[in-house]
Amino acid sequence: MSASFLSPSHLELRARARAAFVPLEPQGHVSDAQLRDEVARLGFYPYLVPSQFGGVLPKVDVLSLCVLREELAYRNAAADSLYAVQGLGSHPVLLAGSDDQKKLHLNRVARGECLFAFALTEPEAGSDVANLSTRAEKTSGGWKLTGQKKFISNAGVASHYTVFARTGAGPKGISAFIVAAEAKGFRVSRQMELLGEHPIGELVLDGAEGELLGEEGQGMKLALGTLDIFRSTVGAASVGMARRALDEALSYSKSRKQFGAPLSELSAVQALLADSAVELEASRLLVHQAALTKDQGQARVTYEAAVAKLFSTEAAQRIIDRCLQIHGGNGVVKGAAVERLYRDVRALRIYEGASEVQRLVIARHLLG
Ligand SMILES: Cc1cc2nc3c(=O)[nH]c(=O)nc-3n(C[C@H](O)[C@H](O)[C@H](O)COP(=O)(O)OP(=O)(O)OC[C@H]3O[C@@H](n4cnc5c(N)ncnc54)[C@H](O)[C@@H]3O)c2cc1C
Repeated sequence: MSASFLSPSHLELRARARAAFVPLEPQGHVSDAQLRDEVARLGFYPYLVPSQFGGVLPKVDVLSLCVLREELAYRNAAADSLYAVQGLGSHPVLLAGSDDQKKLHLNRVARGECLFAFALTEPEAGSDVANLSTRAEKTSGGWKLTGQKKFISNAGVASHYTVFARTGAGPKGISAFIVAAEAKGFRVSRQMELLGEHPIGELVLDGAEGELLGEEGQGMKLALGTLDIFRSTVGAASVGMARRALDEALSYSKSRKQFGAPLSELSAVQALLADSAVELEASRLLVHQAALTKDQGQARVTYEAAVAKLFSTEAAQRIIDRCLQIHGGNGVVKGAAVERLYRDVRALRIYEGASEVQRLVIARHLLG
């Protein structure tokens, strides 16, 4: 067996998750709300918070999150996104919330009694997030937020939104707030339908009440600190999708016969399978390396996570494309697992920083 970054407890978690996630295999239409409840019932939310707040481990273990996201994405991309965004939205509370905010929200996250979203992107501020224009104004009783957010995963099913809004000028004039879904002046203005399965939508804030997280002006630091953890887990999700595609292609190539023999006996098909296996193994190593570097105490892993996300999401697209090719016409029939994976994997090269932005981050690190 190959050497691995995974400890016996990670391997145990992987085996448990692999068995638990089988029922997530897509079978017909399931609403976002049904999926939200199903993911909560699986009971893996405690991995998103430390044991002090109902979690399993003393601190959030990024490698465990990578193990979980690989297994979730292997089965169901929408379930993977739902789970990951609960972490993305609630992590700023862990980083900067008051004792009361942490106690209240994080225990509920662990029990799956609430669902968080992470609301940073706006119609005019995507890759250039520091240019966001949603503003927060101090009132006698707290803060009121006004603006629009776009591409917000978990919109419509979340109970709480971590919203980034302007309290001053420039990147240091951005602060983070918790906005409850039922807050007056808050609404999900549109549920978006994407190429792949993904609960997502747009938000309108019209004087919506928000609770400040941490200090004024800390918003960008909190957003970047959170993305630093979750970016390697996006890579893990792409590994899960690619592994599923390879499993599908292995099985199909052994059963489909052409020219009197299974496709798997054709050297051209074997080369497609071999190239896919090599890229899959390399992706997982990079993802686990970035996660472990964080877990071993390195404060920021911006470079390692960018390398892992860039390589693994781009490789997953190539792997899934090859595996679909092995299926011939059957690969593009709606409902085939590879057809679904082909659609689901595409967004991973865009969200949490497009590949081109990851290249910039990597180059900046190299050039100093
Ligand atoms: C499925 C999905 C889920 C998402 N979930 C969330 C969420 O939960 N919360 C949230 O806040 N946001 C979310 N987003 C938004 C996501 O983070 C943005 O889409 C992403 O940052 C890119 O922004 P944009 O779409 O506005 O593209 P733009 O910023 O307009 O960029 C378009 C393209 O231009 C190129 N480009 C841009 N900037 C540069 C640069 N500096 N150098 C080189 N090339 C560049 C890239 O090719 C990029 O893909 C999600 C997006 C998707 C697709």
